[in-house]
Amino acid sequence: ALLDRRSASAGPGATADGHPVALLANIGSARDLPAGVDVEGVGLFRTELLYLDRTEPPSFEEQVAAYQQVFAALPGRKVVVRTLDAGADKPLPFLRLADEPNPALGIRGLRVARATPAVLDTQLSAIAAAAAASTADVWVMAPMVATAAEAAAFAASCRDHGLRTAGVMIEVPAAALRAGTVLRDVDFLSIGTNDLSQYTFAADRMCGDLADLLDPWQPALISLIAACATAGREAGKPVGVCGESAADPDFALVLVGLGITSLSMAARSIPAVREALAAHTHDECVQFAKAALAADTPTAARAAVRP
Ligand code: PEP
Ligand code: MG
Repeated sequence: ALLDRRSASAGPGATADGHPVALLANIGSARDLPAGVDVEGVGLFRTELLYLDRTEPPSFEEQVAAYQQVFAALPGRKVVVRTLDAGADKPLPFLRLADEPNPALGIRGLRVARATPAVLDTQLSAIAAAAAASTADVWVMAPMVATAAEAAAFAASCRDHGLRTAGVMIEVPAAALRAGTVLRDVDFLSIGTNDLSQYTFAADRMCGDLADLLDPWQPALISLIAACATAGREAGKPVGVCGESAADPDFALVLVGLGITSLSMAARSIPAVREALAAHTHDECVQFAKAALAADTPTAARAAVRP
């Protein structure tokens, strides 16, 4: 029994019958990597921290050093770096963004590169330089992508900078609905369920009074995730989830059953998800996913996994 517990509490994620599911960490800097804990990799490296509270963007050299610190901590492992996800709600003085009545619907994420391409250019150069000097398997992705054209343009920039693995986050319903087309020009998708819920339900993610709409078990959200996972399977490309929902062990089973290939979450949430996966076969996950997709309410979807 001791051995069983140990095998469930360490090592790569997998279902009871050995179907692998990468369990990755969400971090904002190297400090979020728990000391002595063996993570498989990082599925979401939020880079905003570097840019906050400054009147000038961080220099190329400063960025290389920050990225290298993270990559050095994960030799040979996957690190998915997300390019700057700023906007008028996280005002960065050097971007000189105009005041917007609806910042969540304005110039944020990848959209910042429309008027200020140099910021993304420097960031991609710095990521590429840091990646070249490390053994980490560095992937890069853009936040707030709405169309296949935006995804293609981002992937082209990544390749121009010598970055081989480029993907996009799926946070906008338009991109989820066209996931197959988006995937034509990128190597992977990572679904940000926090924003995907917000934009699908027209419900501010910070609004506690709308928690029922922001519930990841909402059938409409599950349908959009399923569409992305199916597109990934058809294209033979990975589709992960990096929103908070991946940390719910029951929901993780549904995600795996839908065909999601990796789950990224706060490092402290990984053990419970690993245990849930190890206790169920892939086939059981597929049955949970079918039942959750057939449910009409979040309550019914939950009951499909935990009757
Ligand atoms: C998300 O939107 O689900 C996500 C992971 O990104 P962030 O929470 O940083 O917006
Ligand atoms: Mg987001």
